[in-house]
Amino acid sequence: MTPLLTVESITKRFATTPVVQDVSFSVYPGEIFALLGPSGCGKTTTLRIIAGFETANAGTISMAERTLADSDTHVPPESRGIGFVFQDYALFPHKNVLENVAFGLRKVSKKARHEKAVAVLDMVGLTNLHERLPHHLSGGEQQRVALARAIIARPKLLLLDEPFSSLDPGLRQSTREEVRALLKTEGISAVLVTHAQEEALSFAERLGVMKEGGTLEQIGTPETVYRQPKTAYVADFLGQTNFIHAHVKDGIAETPFGRVKVDGADTGNVLLSIRPECLKMIASDAQSSTAKNGRIVGQAFKGHDFTYRVEVDRQHYFVQTDYRCPFQVGDTVLLEAASAVAVMPETT
Ligand code: ATP
Repeated sequence: MTPLLTVESITKRFATTPVVQDVSFSVYPGEIFALLGPSGCGKTTTLRIIAGFETANAGTISMAERTLADSDTHVPPESRGIGFVFQDYALFPHKNVLENVAFGLRKVSKKARHEKAVAVLDMVGLTNLHERLPHHLSGGEQQRVALARAIIARPKLLLLDEPFSSLDPGLRQSTREEVRALLKTEGISAVLVTHAQEEALSFAERLGVMKEGGTLEQIGTPETVYRQPKTAYVADFLGQTNFIHAHVKDGIAETPFGRVKVDGADTGNVLLSIRPECLKMIASDAQSSTAKNGRIVGQAFKGHDFTYRVEVDRQHYFVQTDYRCPFQVGDTVLLEAASAVAVMPETT
């Protein structure tokens, strides 16, 4: 399939500091893509370069095989066919909901603008709030107005810069689900920028994990980046994990928990990442040839599950269990690992 958006080797420096370095990725028609990374890693700058608000020092942006930006070309933002929802929604405070949304559509008659604004407000569930001013709306409603304004012109691509971050947790999840459903129904491709891993994992069909300094570490489906991280950085950024140095032979590692099948390395000394949910505690009188006894030194109740801290050989490991776990702090247990992934260690 031909990508809708192609970002190729984009580099951006502010003064002499590089904030985006050699970033490349593609977004396919109808696909929801996320850029995930810590604050300041260059996500917003990348989005602004795609939108045309910022110019890259090197690299190419193209959409449906049309060059939007390279060393000789800069198509202005309004001619790119791209919609943008900003973090603060950027609504006009003195325009009402309908006027804010109609503003997203230019070059058509006032009547047509009005009709389309009414239709798109129906689509986002704001049928009865046409006359309200933005400061009389809840955060979730403002978010929907911003979304309606961005999609009224039927962009092929929508750029979303942390659009859910100012909503409280309950509203954040439901708004996210509604926006996702709307994008999928309307077949609008999107690039979401977020620093929240859970948001990227649940919203996107593929995501790129960015690192401080503006580099892209790994691109993949949520499952892939979570379960098969290529680097220690990605493993750690996507959620809690246990790192273990181990020797691998024929795809099997010798660890303090016995022999474990390894993904991503066949032989040699490697760094393993084992997610807490891939570790299991078993009673220490169970038969095991190579595992060492451990002692439970901590327990955190997380509502839907527990995270235990288990000390084996003076190292601490996190183990996630469901609410039925029979073990207590102080118990002696053996750990069993269902799987491990070999990752590239941090170089800095
Ligand atoms: P956040 O999640 O906090 O918004 P981000 O990953 O989106 O962060 P950017 O906003 O792209 O990061 O910023 C990347 C770096 O570039 C930061 O160090 C920021 O201070 C710097 N930066 C951004 N815009 C400018 C500018 N116009 N001039 C100078 N430095 C800038």
